[in-house]
Order: sequence, then structure tokens, then C-alpha cells
Amino acid sequence: MINLYALTLDELAELLAELGEPRFRARQIWDWMYAKRVGNFEAMTNLPRHTRRKLGEATRLGELEMAARRQSKDGTEKRLYRLPDGQLIESVLMPYDNNRQTACISSQAGCAFGCVFCATGQMGFGRHLSAAEIFEQAMIFARDLAARGERLSNVVFMGMGEPFHNYDASLAAVDKLMNRLGIGARHITISTVGLVPQIRRFADEGLQVKLAVSLHKADDSERSALLPVNRRWPIAELMDACRYYVERTKRRITFEWAAIAGENDTVAEARRLGRLLAGLHCHVNIIPLNPTGGYARGPATALELERFLATLRQYDVNATVRVRRGIDIEAGCGQLKTAVMEAHKPG
Ligand code: SAH
Ligand code: SF4
Repeated sequence: MINLYALTLDELAELLAELGEPRFRARQIWDWMYAKRVGNFEAMTNLPRHTRRKLGEATRLGELEMAARRQSKDGTEKRLYRLPDGQLIESVLMPYDNNRQTACISSQAGCAFGCVFCATGQMGFGRHLSAAEIFEQAMIFARDLAARGERLSNVVFMGMGEPFHNYDASLAAVDKLMNRLGIGARHITISTVGLVPQIRRFADEGLQVKLAVSLHKADDSERSALLPVNRRWPIAELMDACRYYVERTKRRITFEWAAIAGENDTVAEARRLGRLLAGLHCHVNIIPLNPTGGYARGPATALELERFLATLRQYDVNATVRVRRGIDIEAGCGQLKTAVMEAHKPG
């Protein structure tokens, strides 16, 4: 069966011709899919009944099959999808006040980079996702929101996988988010563990899409212990690429800092970070660690976070602590898949 979300408008017109339908219907169907965002052919009421039937027989609206779903007390919704080849991926919807709805989507099944505190890193690499599979995660949320009169406003590539390891598909998905769902580039964020060549390439793209870099440590040997990728691209090289990005795009860069008790939440560490980032047009997003089964440490305490922030201020480095969302539903990267696999373990 053909996945309609994977087709361009021209390909859709081509398909209709093959089905013996007039090509102008392509625009009508496109409109139902992306402007009105309906989830089934029955709702496409200006199409003749036989056209809807033919579409239903030959095509489908998307390929992701919902395998699990959880709703948090704070409104965060997490979904686990099964892909046609059996791979499992996650996406999360986070409603914020003032009508912001943010989808957090995956770029790969699993991840090859093995960051020690990350549930996805702990499960290893499955495969790259196609642009259609990346896009469809946001498309489904947009569709569900449209059904209740709401709009998907932001998308972050912070689910499973490393988007810059799957660079072309991730950027093709970004293009679809902008052109099909009308999400502005400034409302899209790509998060990378620090793949230096791709950061430079991304800087040259001329896009307004935001970039976030997972730093987590300001010292090379300690960062390598948490994020093995640091052995390939150590902090000095990473920072050179980040400075290049800021100079080239004139945009602010975000650094992510998973605050881990006793690991990277000390005043000494904040000073190292302050020295590293002082003078750079950047923002530090501090996210208290979401504990995972494969990593023994826990989140930094409120008191340590206060001290950390106060120390960064001495270096004029902007930083905010982000509230952890969906903590009761394992909404951290890769955690729902882990929880569901555990529950279904034989024996
Ligand atoms: N691979 C990309 C994007 C996906 S991870 C990257 O690493 O940036 C998105 C963010 O979640 C990263 O900053 C990552 O370090 C962070 N993260 C992963 N596991 C976490 C956990 N258990 N607690 C808090 N943050 C975590
Ligand atoms: Fe991969 Fe990002 Fe998790 Fe590291 S933090 S293992 S790069 S998904």
C-alpha cells in the first residue's frame, strides 16, 4: 500500500492518473491532508464515493502503528509507534500555556552514540528513519490537534536518535514540516550530540531552524566518559564549530545540560562552563536528569541548580532550568520503549 504522506503533490497527481482519476483531485486531497488535516478518506467529503474507495484500497494515510500511549498528569502525551519492519520509535507532545504545542520527534530507531545516561543510547542503534517516518510523527500530532481545534506550533528533534547522523532525512523532514504543516523555521529545533562536520554543514544551509548542542560537561576526559562521541570530536573542536555556526548564521546557539547530581552540578563545573561559553551568543538549557535503568545517578537538587545558575551569571552566560515534563510517564528519550519492552519480556 502506498503511503500518501510520503508523496509529493506531483506524485499524488501521477498516482491519481494511474487510478483513472482526474489529476485536479490531487490538490483537493492534499488540502484535506495538510490544511484540514483529516485522518481518513471518509472525511474528504468533496471527493466522489468511488474515489474515496479507490484511495482506501490502494493507499494509506501513514505507516506508523500506535503500539503504546501514555498521558501524563501535566498533559504531556507520549506515544510508541511500530514501524512496518517492527522497529519501535517514540514521540512526545508537550502542551504549554499560551497555546504552544510542541512535538518531540525521533530521527532514528535507537542510537549509535551510546551516551551513558540516555535510554536510547543504552539500547543501541536500530536504523535510520526516512524523512516520511520522521515527518509523520509530527503529522499525527498535528492531525489529532486539528480534530480538537488546536494547532501544532513547535517541533524539536529531541526524541530517539541523532538527527545529524541521519542528516539528509532529518533536513528533508524539516522541509516538510515547514511546507506542509506551516511550522516556521524558528519554531523547529534540531538537537545534536556534537557532530562537528554536520554542525558546520548545517550553518551553511541558510536556514532559520534552531540548533541545540548537548554539552553536559565542560572537561574533555569527563565528557568522553558520559558522551563517547567526545573522543572523536573533543570540546575545542566542537566549540570551534559552534562559534562558526553563530558567526555564519548570526543566530544564538543553545547548549543542553542534563544536570546530574554529583556529576556536573558543582560550582567548579559551572565555572568551567562559564569560562568555556563566556562571550558566545548562546543560551544554556539545564534539564535535571531523567533517571534511567542503565545509569545509577539522579537529578541535581534545586539548591545545586540555584548555585549553578548564580555561578554562570558571573560569566554573563544565559541559562534557564527547564521543568522536566512527563516524568510520571517515562517521557525521557527512549524510556517508553524500554518500559514497554520490560513489561513484555518473556518469563
Ligand atoms: N541525539 C540528540 C537528540 C536526542 S536526545 C542529542 O543527543 O542531542 C535530546 C536531549 O535529551 C539531549 O540533550 C540528550 O543529552 C538529552 N537526554 C538524553 N537522556 C536524558 C536523560 N535521561 N535525562 C535528561 N536528558 C537526557
Ligand atoms: Fe543518542 Fe542523543 Fe541519546 Fe546520545 S543523548 S545516545 S546522541 S539520542
